[in-house]
Parts: sequence; C-alpha cells; structure tokens
Amino acid sequence: MTELPERLDVVAVAPHPDDLEILCGGTLAKLVRQGYRVGIFDLTSGEPTPRGSLEKRQQEAETARQILGVQVRVNVALPNRVLMDGPEARFALATLFRQYRPSIVIVAMGRTPAASPDHFQGGLIGEAARFYSQLTKWDERFDGTPPYRVPHLVYAPFPFDAEVRHWHSQFVTDISDTIEIKLAAVRAYESQFDTHRFQRVEHMIRSANGFHGARCGYLYGELFALPTPVGAPDLVQLVHGSKGSIAPVQLPGKDHLPMG
Ligand SMILES: [Zn+2]
Repeated sequence: MTELPERLDVVAVAPHPDDLEILCGGTLAKLVRQGYRVGIFDLTSGEPTPRGSLEKRQQEAETARQILGVQVRVNVALPNRVLMDGPEARFALATLFRQYRPSIVIVAMGRTPAASPDHFQGGLIGEAARFYSQLTKWDERFDGTPPYRVPHLVYAPFPFDAEVRHWHSQFVTDISDTIEIKLAAVRAYESQFDTHRFQRVEHMIRSANGFHGARCGYLYGELFALPTPVGAPDLVQLVHGSKGSIAPVQLPGKDHLPMG
C-alpha cells in the first residue's frame, strides 16, 4: 500500500463539478478560512453538456477550487448522466474516504425530477461509501487501504428537491462573509452559465441563501441536514452555541435589521 495523503477535516461529495459550489460553496470557503482542511470529491466529470468539454470543465473546476480555497479536489471519474448507485461506485468513493480519513462527510442529497437523476444516485453512493469505508476483511476492494470509520455524515439538500423531506434535524451556517466568494466560484463554470444563465442562478442562490439566513438572523445562510436528531448533553450550551454568535446583520444602506 502506498503512503496515505494528509487527512482532511471535511469532505463534500456530489455528482457534478458545480453542484457543491451552488449547494454549499459559502460554507466550504468559510471552513477553509476557519483553518480546516477541506476536500471536494466530484463523482463524475459532469460532461458531456451542450457547451462544455472535458478539458474546459476540468479547468473550471480547478478555478473554482482556487476561488474557494479548498485544498483538495478529486474527480472520482464515475460515468456522468448514467451515474448509478452500485458496488463499484461505492468501492471507488469509500477508497477515497479511507485515503483522506475525513471527520465529516457532506453528501449532496435529494431527488431532482426536473434535473439530473445523478443527484439522487450520488446521494445514495455517498451514504453507502461512508458505511463501506469502515468494513474489515475487504481491503482488496479498497485498493489495499485500511478500514476507516467516518464519524459524521451531513446532508447538503438540493434546493429543488421535489420531496417534502422530513429531515431529523437541520441547521444553517452563516455565509454572509463568503457569499461573494461562492458566487465567484459558480461564475467560474462559464461553459454552464453564460451571462443570462448566471443571472438566473445568482438570483436563485441569493434568494435561497437569503431565506435560510434570515431564519437564523444571518444575511445569507446555507441549509444542511443530519441523519439523526442533534444530541444535547447540555441544553443551555446547545441553544447558546447556535444563538450566541449572532452579530447584528448589516444590510447595504441599513444599519440594523429589526431583530433581536
Ligand atoms: Zn448537478
């Protein structure tokens, strides 16, 4: 077995380069700025698309990585458009989990009937690979890497998820200071977003992140979910931990929002 790469704190997984920028790019950029080592694992190349090419999409993904500041970006090279949950896809992703040994895996999740079916399959692959990563007596299926248990799974829900999903628990991260970095990273995908399409996606992002943020007293926020309820050994600490860090929200042209 070759030597393992340096550990990552947080790894985010989605089918297509640009999915994670849109879903949680503000949080990934913020995590890096908070001192964490962050990785993005794209399950597929995202190609073919009408205006893209393999080389162009790779360049765009690398530009977006640099804008976010994320340390590692890996393409798992599973097939785009026909991405399916199955043993080989699970082995491939679990091998990367074993190599990079993240504390937290963020999996893009949700059914998107009006968009690519890869999104839902990618979520299933992410969940299964997180489980497979810890399995013993199967090292040959994971390139000889030793078992590794990923302690925490977090979902990044697709915003156009058609299901009314009853997540056990949700939380919102404050991305007020990284929203512009997020939008710049999305803008890097020129083959996917010409000026007109970028205006639409920017409107969608500002609306969704503005809505989620407003619910928690932030200018912009990104929504996440957990597969379990949040455990709270100390009720006061839990409640203070989430509310204690709220600074007065600054809006352009306004001093304060009228909220606590
Ligand atoms: Zn996608």
